[in-house]
Amino acid sequence: MHYISTRSADHPVTLGEAIVRGIAPDGGLYVPLEFPHFTARQFETDVELPQIAERLLAPFAAGDPLAAELPAICNDAFNFPAPLVGLPNAPAPLSVLELFHGPTNAFKDFGARFLAACMERIHRGQRRKLTILVATSGDTGAAVAAAFHGKPWVDVAVLYPQGKVSDRQAQQLACWGGNVRTFAVRGTFDDCQRIVKEAFADPTFAETHQLSSANSINIGRLLPQMVYFAQAGLQLWRESGRRANFIVPTGNLGNALACIWARHIGVPIGEIVLATNANQSITEYLRTGEWAPRPSVATLANAMDVGNPSNMERLRALHSDFEELQGQIGASSVDDIEIRGTIRRDSHELDRLWCPHSATAAKVFRRLLARGARGHWVIVATAHPAKFNEIVEAQTGREASVPDSLARLLALPRQETELDPTLDALRAELQKN
Ligand SMILES: *Cc1c(COP(=O)(O)O)cnc(C)c1O
Repeated sequence: MHYISTRSADHPVTLGEAIVRGIAPDGGLYVPLEFPHFTARQFETDVELPQIAERLLAPFAAGDPLAAELPAICNDAFNFPAPLVGLPNAPAPLSVLELFHGPTNAFKDFGARFLAACMERIHRGQRRKLTILVATSGDTGAAVAAAFHGKPWVDVAVLYPQGKVSDRQAQQLACWGGNVRTFAVRGTFDDCQRIVKEAFADPTFAETHQLSSANSINIGRLLPQMVYFAQAGLQLWRESGRRANFIVPTGNLGNALACIWARHIGVPIGEIVLATNANQSITEYLRTGEWAPRPSVATLANAMDVGNPSNMERLRALHSDFEELQGQIGASSVDDIEIRGTIRRDSHELDRLWCPHSATAAKVFRRLLARGARGHWVIVATAHPAKFNEIVEAQTGREASVPDSLARLLALPRQETELDPTLDALRAELQKN
């Protein structure tokens, strides 16, 4: 399997190379040159995530040294479940795909753990330590920190905007210590991202620290996200002979794109509907055909506050014809008032607590039903409600029970350094080591 840039097919690379580069030299994103095709029957004997992952991802690793390591990589990465849970109180057939059982309680653990497992093997035999530099608006940084924590071949520097994440998100970013350094930047997420970009663009800085990216556009984070959609789709197909329709909370379009790719390669999936928050670039585009990225606005679903979703470029590479694309996916936008209302309502009516991100999908489910939608729907729950307990408790009067993984992290001391929003400030801090 070769990967090419969304902007030109000139320099095809294999999986390991695409992972190391992160972004293609022409600034585009890596996509498979051609997609494999599967039938449900090929997965007949595969039930657990690592087995499904191994079969599904094998063609994507073919031709690269990582192919031989794929079984071990999948065992490392998929070491927690993604259960499909029925909601018997719902007014129509409805399940939840729970993607929050990983070490930091959001779906980003899957991609981060798979990427770390790949990078560990790619880096083997090299003497110099890498530094993973990551800017985060909430969940990415914690997932990356957890996935690389304690690995002797790598240091991690996480930059997050001080005061702009939930308390528990902040704790999950700053509890690590050891080879992870957490910087609370006196600025916005955009400042964090700018510093990271400047660092990579500074050859001396990049060389001194052997900078490496775990950015969400890395193909090594995207591919493993197909696996849980495959498991859920196959399970429903086996049990009922029906195709699952997914509603995916969407920001940078990484998770939803993995769902779209999974369907594209033959996983039994029916409709795919994107749920966005008040950041409406994607919903507007699907309505009008005009691609108009805009500055992001802050919402309760902070991990989806993206005004210019980078994976749009990959989606348009898959469906270059707009009308074809419009026929393939739906999208609907949910504002903060509706997020709060949905958390309240579903707590009573479905006996279910949602994180604000998952609540956007739950709201879109109600909208689809009101418009007469049929079939079996799956709400993709991207984070555990306990991660956002302030919002959940204020709306429902109930406290989400705290999973053990979160309880452990909450008990650790917080270790972070405040940082002015400049590359010089980061340089000075990293030189202290
Ligand atoms: C990152 C994130 C999203 C958005 O996912 P994308 O792949 O960026 O579309 C949704 N919910 C949660 C909880 C997240 O952390």
